[in-house]
Amino acid sequence: MPSLLNTLSVPYPLADQHRHEPALRGAWQRVCESGSYILGREVEAFEKEYAAFLGGGRVVGVASGTDAIELMLRALNIGSGSKVVVPSFAPSAVASGVRRSGAEVVFADIDPHTFTLCPESLAALLRSPQGSGVDAALVVHLYGHPADWQGLRSVAVEHGIELLEDCAQAHGALWQGRMAGTLGRAAAFSFYPTKNLAALGDAGAVATQDAELAERLRLIREYGWGRRNVSDFAGVNSRLDELQAAVLRVKLGSLRDNVLQRRRLAAVYDASLSGCRMVVPPVVRGGCEHAYHQYVIRTKNREALLQHLQQAGIPAAVHYPVPLHRQRAFAGSHMPLSEAERAASEVISLPVHPYLSEEAPAEVGEVIERFDHACG
Ligand SMILES: *Cc1c(COP(=O)(O)O)cnc(C)c1O
Repeated sequence: MPSLLNTLSVPYPLADQHRHEPALRGAWQRVCESGSYILGREVEAFEKEYAAFLGGGRVVGVASGTDAIELMLRALNIGSGSKVVVPSFAPSAVASGVRRSGAEVVFADIDPHTFTLCPESLAALLRSPQGSGVDAALVVHLYGHPADWQGLRSVAVEHGIELLEDCAQAHGALWQGRMAGTLGRAAAFSFYPTKNLAALGDAGAVATQDAELAERLRLIREYGWGRRNVSDFAGVNSRLDELQAAVLRVKLGSLRDNVLQRRRLAAVYDASLSGCRMVVPPVVRGGCEHAYHQYVIRTKNREALLQHLQQAGIPAAVHYPVPLHRQRAFAGSHMPLSEAERAASEVISLPVHPYLSEEAPAEVGEVIERFDHACG
C-alpha cells in the first residue's frame, strides 16, 4: 500500500511546515529584519488575531502550554495553600503546570465516553474531606472533545470553585456553538509543534474574557514589571517569541479548515470502524464539535491490535498509558479512579492530521477490520 504509507510516513509537524513553507519564510525574514525579537508587533498581532478566532476576549502569549497553566493560576492567586482538581487521565504537563503554581493537585475521574472530567466524580471529590481547600478545577478538553461544561459548571457553582480550561488539544473545538477557550474563567493553550495550531518550537497562551486578569498575566509573564525595570511583584520570564508569533499568525489562517479536515477524516474512520466488535470508536456528545487533535479508539485487545498496526506500518500511539495518580511524581488519590485506569489500558490513537489523504483512514480502518474478524 504505497499511497497509505506515503501520507502516513510524513509526521504532522513536518507536513505542516511544508504546507506553509513560503509564507513562513516571509514571516521569518520580516521578524529577523525588524530588530525586535521579544514582545513586539508580531506577538501583539497574534494575540488579537487569536482572540478574534476564539470569538472575543483577550489572549496573552506565553512560552508554553505548561507555563500557561501555571500563570493563569498565579494570576488568579491560586497557589501555595490551594488545591486544584485535574482529571487523572491527562498528559502529565497538566499536573506539572498546577504544581508549578504552588497549588496541590487532586485527582478526579473521567467520563468514559469523552475521556473528560466527570461532573459526578468532581462533585464526590468536593464533598469528601480531600475536597476541602479546592479553589479550582482544570478541565482538559482531551483529544479535542469539549468536556461536559454544563454539568461541570453546576458543580462548580454549587461548591464555589473556579472552572479553568486546558485547551492544548482543543483549538477549534466547540461546545454549544462556543469555542473551547471561552467557557471558563481562563483557558490555557499550547502551540507545541504537534498541536492543532503549531509553532516551530515552544509556545503557549492564556485566553480570558476578563480584561483585568489579562493585564495581570501580562505583568507576570515579564518579571512582574508594572513599567520597564520596575517590578510590582516577582513575576517570571515566560514570553512568546516574535518568531513563534509570526509562525502562528501564518498558520492561524488555515486552522479552521484544518479542523474541518480532521473532522472529515474522523468521519471516514467512524464509518469504516462501525462494524468492528472489538473496537469502540470515539463518541461525540450532542452540541459538541470535536477538534480531533487525536482520533482515539478503545479496545480490550490493545497489545495485539498495536502489534497488528505496527506490522502494517501504521503509526499508532498510546495517549496516555499511565493515569497521573499512578505516576511517581503525582502518586496517590483517595478517590476511586477506575475509569481513568481503564482508559489508560484500552486507548489507541490512530493517525489523524489534516495532511493525510482521505484514503488513509479508510485503509487503516480496513487493517483494523481484518484484525477484528480474525479475533471474532
Ligand atoms: C501539550 C499539552 C500541555 C503542555 O503544553 P506544552 O506547550 O508542551 O507545555 C498541557 N496540557 C495538554 C492537555 C497538552 O496536550
